[in-house]
Parts: sequence; structure tokens; C-alpha cells
Amino acid sequence: MEVIGALGRDYKVVALSANTNYRLLAEQARRFNPELVVLAGGEDNIDLLIGEIGDRRIRVEAGREALIHAALEPSADIALIAVVGFGGFAPTVAALKAGKRIALANKESLVVGGELLSREVPGFRELIVPVDSEHSAIFQCLRGEKMANVARLILTASGGPFREMDPLRLERVNPEEALKHPRWRMGPKITIDSATLMNKGFEVLEARWLFGIDLDRIKVVVHPQSMVHSLVEFVDGSVKAQIAPPDMRIPIQYALTYPARKESSFPRVDLVEQSWNFEPPDMERFPALEIAYMAGKSGGTMPAVLNAANEIAVDQFLKGRIKFPEITGIARNIMDEHKIIRSPSGEDIVEADRWARKIALNICKAGDR
Ligand code: MG
Repeated sequence: MEVIGALGRDYKVVALSANTNYRLLAEQARRFNPELVVLAGGEDNIDLLIGEIGDRRIRVEAGREALIHAALEPSADIALIAVVGFGGFAPTVAALKAGKRIALANKESLVVGGELLSREVPGFRELIVPVDSEHSAIFQCLRGEKMANVARLILTASGGPFREMDPLRLERVNPEEALKHPRWRMGPKITIDSATLMNKGFEVLEARWLFGIDLDRIKVVVHPQSMVHSLVEFVDGSVKAQIAPPDMRIPIQYALTYPARKESSFPRVDLVEQSWNFEPPDMERFPALEIAYMAGKSGGTMPAVLNAANEIAVDQFLKGRIKFPEITGIARNIMDEHKIIRSPSGEDIVEADRWARKIALNICKAGDR
């Protein structure tokens, strides 16, 4: 909202959605004056929302279906999809099928549904501009290049708050420590995923579908300063990187203004302020990255199972019910038990998701005793 507010008159918000926070949604509606406002997870609070908006010309809708209406709003040129979790899939597919341009901030749509998406909307790549900082970096490096000339994609990872921690100490880290990310300010789910490196694993799977490249040509390197957001290595040995301060407003603005660039007042890179270093990810201390590659190689419903099991495990860790290393342990065990469905339908994915959540909760409860 801050980015679009600063972009000036060429950009107008025509539809807005939130999950349950109707107060903030109403405040944004009063400021940006959209045509449609959607409260996706808060049917019960719809009257409160209408009351707080106070402008009868703004259409108000509630429920998950209404998210699709927001994504398809006819007067919108771009749909920015920043819904958390697999709930972002339905509006993403709907908008892509309608040929609408998407600024995609939701990873799970591609992690879980990338295979399905590539079957259902074969031309989807032409329509997506990534918001995730690593993928925005790769997208920018690829401009004017042919995919046939790409040797490898190299995603950078900050390494999270526990990069240098003793593996034995990892057993005892609490949610507060895990929520202190050294570089980025984000929501709790993605911050924990960054601490386990599962977020990077998901980004590898996201990159695979977004750029249509094999998993064994996507690498991860740890770069604690988070200034180099990702790199592309070409067949001639030349490497392009995209560099900027770690500020999400920069990739968000790029996704909105693409193919143009617009002036901004965001922070600038100071090349001599600090040195930058790069190191390999510690797969032993952080097995999540390897597990994500495994899920991606298995394909079918396996990434959905990993995503669901991880989501439950992260939630249980935040509630103090399981230890930090158990997050990835649980995900791994559930993947071992899963019978993969190849070329899954949307229903197969939803079913695999439900199954994995149930098993994950049972494992966490069994551990309580
Ligand atoms: Mg990212």
C-alpha cells in the first residue's frame, strides 16, 4: 500500500482484500477508495466492515470465493497476490486463466500447484512478475536473455538467525529467538521458515516453475548481508546478479511498474559500507533445504504434503509444543509415509494437504504425552 501510494496518479487500487483484519482493511479502503473490498476469512464481521468503511459506493464481499472476484476485477490491470498459503492458488489460477497480469508474492501456489498450473494454464509464465526478492532478482537478470543460454540459477539465502549456532543448542531455541530475523521483517510463518531454511527450499521449487528450469540447475548460496538477491550464470561463464538493500518495497515496486522502472525514495546500496561474503548452506544443520529438493524431485502431491506438514509443525513450534529441529523431522517422516499421486488434480492436492495436516497434528500430539 505504501509503494502504490508513493507511485502517484498512474496507479490506482481498484480492489482490496484481507483475511480477517477488517479494521485495517476499512482504514485502507477509506484511504485508497477502491471499487471492491473483500474480507476472505471473516463473513461474521462483514457488517462491522461495512460500518467502518462508511462509503456505500464501495462494494463489499466476504468469503474465499470473493477473493477470485477481487483477482478478476475487470478494471484491474495487475492482480498482486499476497495471500498466505495454498489459499492463494484459486485466485492465482482464476486470474491467469483470464489472462490477467499477476504480481506474485504467494510461494505456495507454485510450490504446491506448479505442476498443475503448468498443465492448466500452459502460458502462465508470460503473465507472472515475481515479488519474492530472489525471484525478482533472477527475473531482472533474465531480461533480454534466452533461457537456453542459462547454465544455473543461484538463489541467495541470509542463513537466518541460527546460521552459526551449535547444532546441540538448536534443540533448545525458543520461538522468540527464531522470530528475530537478522535482515528482513516478515510474518511469523515465513520467519520460522527462514530460520529452518525451508523458505529457501520452497523458493527453489518456486524458481523451478517460475523459470521452467530443472531442479539440479538451481543452487543455493548463503549470503548473510542480503544485498545480492540472486544470480544467473550463463553458458559462457558470465554471471549476472541483482543487488539492492534488503527492502521489500523495491521488488514490490518493480512488479507493479514492470517493464518500466520508476523513481523511488528507497534506501540505496553503499558498496564500501560493509564487506559481503558467500558460503555453502549447511545441509546437516538445516536439513529442510535437502528435504525440499527431495519433495520437488518426487513431484506429484509430494510438495503439497511437505508444505502442509511444515505449516502444522511451524505452528506447533510457535505454540511451544515441539522443538525447533522437529519441524523438519516431522515433515520428513510424513513425506516417507506418503503415497504420491502423479499428475494430481486440484482435488488430489487438497486431499494430500488435508492428510498431511492430520498426520502432522497426530505426531505433535503424541509427542505431548
Ligand atoms: Mg524470498
